[in-house]
Amino acid sequence: MMKGILFLTTLFVANFAKKTFERNQVLRITAKDEAQISLLKELSEQEHLELDFWREPIHESLPVDVHVPFHSLQDVRAFLGNNQIQYDVMIMDVQDLLDDEEREMVKNCSSPKSTDDFVYSAYHNLNEIDSFIDMLVAENGNLVSKIVIGRSYEKRSLNVLKFSTGANRPGIWIDTGIHSREWVTQASGTWFAKKIVKDYKRDPVLTDILNNYDIFLEIVTNPDGFAYTHNRVSLKDRMWRKTRKLNPGSRCVGVDPNRNWDAGFGGAGSSGKPCSQTYRGPRANSEREVKAIVDFVKSHGKLKAFVSIHSYSQMLLYPYGYTHTPAKDNDELNELAEKTVSALQSLYNTQYRFGSIITTIYQASGGTIDWTYNQGIKYSYTFELRDTGRYGFLLPANQIVPTAEETWLALMTIMKHTRKNPY
Ligand SMILES: [Zn+2]
Repeated sequence: MMKGILFLTTLFVANFAKKTFERNQVLRITAKDEAQISLLKELSEQEHLELDFWREPIHESLPVDVHVPFHSLQDVRAFLGNNQIQYDVMIMDVQDLLDDEEREMVKNCSSPKSTDDFVYSAYHNLNEIDSFIDMLVAENGNLVSKIVIGRSYEKRSLNVLKFSTGANRPGIWIDTGIHSREWVTQASGTWFAKKIVKDYKRDPVLTDILNNYDIFLEIVTNPDGFAYTHNRVSLKDRMWRKTRKLNPGSRCVGVDPNRNWDAGFGGAGSSGKPCSQTYRGPRANSEREVKAIVDFVKSHGKLKAFVSIHSYSQMLLYPYGYTHTPAKDNDELNELAEKTVSALQSLYNTQYRFGSIITTIYQASGGTIDWTYNQGIKYSYTFELRDTGRYGFLLPANQIVPTAEETWLALMTIMKHTRKNPY
């Protein structure tokens, strides 16, 4: 009897979970003017529609991508039609892509004995990445160590890989996955870690960098969110972006950890509403995941480059996001961005846009690299990796390695420049 109930419950949960994104669509909306942008902003305020804007309506120069639950599709289509706003269906059924993704993951779910056996061309969950990190450290004890810079809201350790060949060096920071659903970033981070140990003492440029600088790499920067994007059987959410902190007085969970930094905190391009995907939190550094990095950056005191990696859109961005005032190093940052993007493009012809955050995407306040730049870290950049919206956050696993490879050329360009231009 117990077994029967358990079986039924499991069946019910599995079914329910499977239905979560069934017949949901992602629409690409092309607003033709300011007026249509305003209409789309109104649409985004309709909380009962439960729309998830993968790219928000800000300016008519960038298309708007929105994930629409099945129950809202008719209303949204009618709204767009009545207002003569153009759109295309980018993803016909979100659940189909999730099923593909799940199948791939199951197929590649093994327990590798070494980082050589690790499947870099597949997505992995938090446990798999954690054991990858431990294996890498065990295999390369003289080059790599793991440091724990703090604990997440749900008490997971915030692990950072430190690649170092000597004491008291200046540092270069790279983080991936601060937005948990941007899975190609954590996957790329894993690939970068292996690339560094493979290339040290083989690639003269990287060897020279590592003989003078430490590299710090935080692969799962938002572990609570990342864990939540896995295990859909227990009704979790592949599309989760924020932290998992409870917001007192609200039914909505989480803070946008890329609006929580103490740089223009609370300004335009962040939300004061806990249910928003860009909720900035009650105060700057309220998120442990952010505060841990802030404390690390301050106590280290000698970080010279800081790269925070997101997806998607194919962009390379530098400060500022919260103000129109250009960064004082604007010209150098722009020149380096241009070189970096062309190095990236040289491999697979992937095209990137580049510029300051506010001029290239939109005003966003409380962002990571605005804060690091204001701390004196001149080479502060944010990447938005592949793609430009065909799959968005659901980038197929067969694009992980090409994405990581081309991004590595970009990272090398930034690190090499940092090495050659000490300050
Ligand atoms: Zn992001």
